[in-house]
Amino acid sequence: MQSVAVPSVGDVKKIIEDFWAADPRNRLYPGGDEKAWAEPHVGVAAADDPFFSRFKEMIGPFFWTPEEAFALAFPDDPASSSELRVISYVLPQTPATRAEQRQEKQMPAERWARSRFYGEQFNCELRLHLAAALTAMGHPSVAPERLPGFDYRHSERFGIASNWSERHAAFVAGLGTFGLSDGLITPWGKAVRFGSVVSRIALPVSARSYGDDHHAWCLWYAKGVCGACALRCPVGAISTAAGHDKVACRRYIREVTAPWATKRYGTGATPCGLCQVRIPCEAQVPAALRPISLS
Ligand code: SF4
Ligand code: SF4
Repeated sequence: MQSVAVPSVGDVKKIIEDFWAADPRNRLYPGGDEKAWAEPHVGVAAADDPFFSRFKEMIGPFFWTPEEAFALAFPDDPASSSELRVISYVLPQTPATRAEQRQEKQMPAERWARSRFYGEQFNCELRLHLAAALTAMGHPSVAPERLPGFDYRHSERFGIASNWSERHAAFVAGLGTFGLSDGLITPWGKAVRFGSVVSRIALPVSARSYGDDHHAWCLWYAKGVCGACALRCPVGAISTAAGHDKVACRRYIREVTAPWATKRYGTGATPCGLCQVRIPCEAQVPAALRPISLS
């Protein structure tokens, strides 16, 4: 049997970067020049990292491990978790989008609404492109969020929850830790979106500079100060006492910001993200919690 050359993490990153640079759907305004996202960043997690089975225990039996997501895509050729990697990437909001969003207090800015709609459409294509490119190179790959079974369910402990979480994958891949608002704080801030692909590929795994501390880069959890994201939420859906109220957040987005953005910008989707800007972790790990190191 002919052996398959293993791409390096740099090769994988280049697949993502090239698509980010060249694909015309990476736009805030279709047909325009302005990119939806700033330059992407990549991390790699081991699919047999104990965190993935721990998430399943905590969130519920419906939550997919990487191995289960892979088996759904390749039922005739399943892989053990030790053979798989989760490639996670970060797409940061652009400085122009963040600046515009910082001015808003009730409704998402136009660029933000557009990134949530057109930018996420591009992100869906990027997930599929990365999975297809790696598969074509001899490394079967799937984007769990793009599987037909991707869905939201009820978690006894956490309420509404999806059966795959891009943020949790990014945490395991060393890309960030959770903040008071539930968003993931990355070295490029919290004003970001994520994507991931599960691949049968022997890539080296990224180190987690924060170890297992899932709150290491949030000032509230690390030092008992801040709470700026709570002050940014127009409906009080974040508090230092109780963290993120998913029900109140979802209600505001579904009933207020989404219909408003659809009418105003014709964008659709579910934009808000007011709590992701004008805060110490908007575009970086808060200064008081640095230095950080990335492998
Ligand atoms: S704004 Fe402050 S409290 Fe909120 S997630 Fe960022 S560091 Fe944590
Ligand atoms: S996304 Fe949710 S928590 Fe954040 S500001 Fe909007 S409603 Fe509040």
